[in-house]
Amino acid sequence: MSDRTPLLIHNATVITLDATNRILERGALLVEGEQIAAVGASAELLAAYPTAEHWDAQGMLLMPGMICAHTHFYGAFARGMYIPGPAAKDFPEILEKLWWRLDKALSIEGVELSAEVCLADAIRNGCTTLIDHHASQRAIDGSLDAIAGAVERAGLRAVLCYEVTDRDGADAARAGIAENVRFLRRTQAGPLHERIAATFGLHASMTLSDATLEACRSESDKFHVHVAEHPADEFDSLARCGKRTVERLHGFGITGPQSIMAHCIHIDAWETALLRETGTWVAHQPRSNMNNAVGAAAVESMLRGGMKVVLGNDGFSNDMFAEMKVADLLQKLAHGDPRSLGADKVCQMALRNNRALVGQFFAQPVGVLQPGALADLILLDYYPITPLSAENLPWQILFGISGGHVHSTMAHGQLLMRNRTLLTMDEAAIAERSRAAARATWERYWAMFA
Ligand SMILES: [Zn+2]
Repeated sequence: MSDRTPLLIHNATVITLDATNRILERGALLVEGEQIAAVGASAELLAAYPTAEHWDAQGMLLMPGMICAHTHFYGAFARGMYIPGPAAKDFPEILEKLWWRLDKALSIEGVELSAEVCLADAIRNGCTTLIDHHASQRAIDGSLDAIAGAVERAGLRAVLCYEVTDRDGADAARAGIAENVRFLRRTQAGPLHERIAATFGLHASMTLSDATLEACRSESDKFHVHVAEHPADEFDSLARCGKRTVERLHGFGITGPQSIMAHCIHIDAWETALLRETGTWVAHQPRSNMNNAVGAAAVESMLRGGMKVVLGNDGFSNDMFAEMKVADLLQKLAHGDPRSLGADKVCQMALRNNRALVGQFFAQPVGVLQPGALADLILLDYYPITPLSAENLPWQILFGISGGHVHSTMAHGQLLMRNRTLLTMDEAAIAERSRAAARATWERYWAMFA
């Protein structure tokens, strides 16, 4: 518990997202230490907690902080970067020309700055928990500590891992395993911050040998891996062992109720059934999928089967409201039917399923405004021009609310942004250092084409 004075945010439109799914007009919420202590009517809470610090929210929306189920902090320096030669024609070429070279060009300092840039963006957009998947193949050892340090200073909540791969040889694969193992032990043993958790990262089946997968299975019971983002991953698996990607990974114990499989676009019916049987999480990243032209995952069908589909951003902006909009648009376009998916199902993924996933990594709930939940919350100066109710909230979110409405952000009871001023990070200083580190990273990247 912290020794901060309890904070009573009152005169807010409180979106609880709890079991009763209420929207409280002139509602209030009491923050005590790192958690929410009370939620109710402003008049009642003001009378009950006269000595708390009072903050008049002037009718702003108060809702749980957003959650990103799959991201890559390390991709920040790709912004505006020139990629030599002809444009990549498909996803395997994008990996080979862009990501597998950029990740080798990063130094530990670059890793840390990439993370800081993304974390500042996350605070601005009200995204308070991020599940990151990291690669920096020439700076593996200690990379997760560098990211954890940035997360700790930013004040956000994160789940970290290193993406093990054989694409740069056996030594780098071993180093990746060691980084995951070391960091997992560090989060389990303390004294690492309670806002930071870990899982075990794997790049993708198509860059992992049987021997490496075998080595990984003995180290963890929870994994975070890319699956069938492109047909290449499926055909690689079939060529290796006659099994499809999910079946191959299942054989190595990678599926399961604590594992996250990102994308799952090109899986077949039997792989889908296997993910459902094993209770594996499926992370959907529609903006990235559209950018890479890799297709549309069958998320509506998966949701219909009660599968645990969550929403990530794959390193795009941390405006999860934008990702939610695109999730809906992609399904409508892909199916040629405006009835596809819909805002309610998008909210099922992005709000309820994302928080259930994060709930597996932390002792107390997040993503809900109720007593006992961790105080991860945002205030938005969104004043709806049409009636707002719990029933139509999904459509208000999809057609009205954006990350630009986020006025203030709190995580773990600590204010990280108030009235659009960042309180834990110096954005101008980060941008200046980031520009210098990005230039040096780009030089190393371009040298790989020489
Ligand atoms: Zn990814």
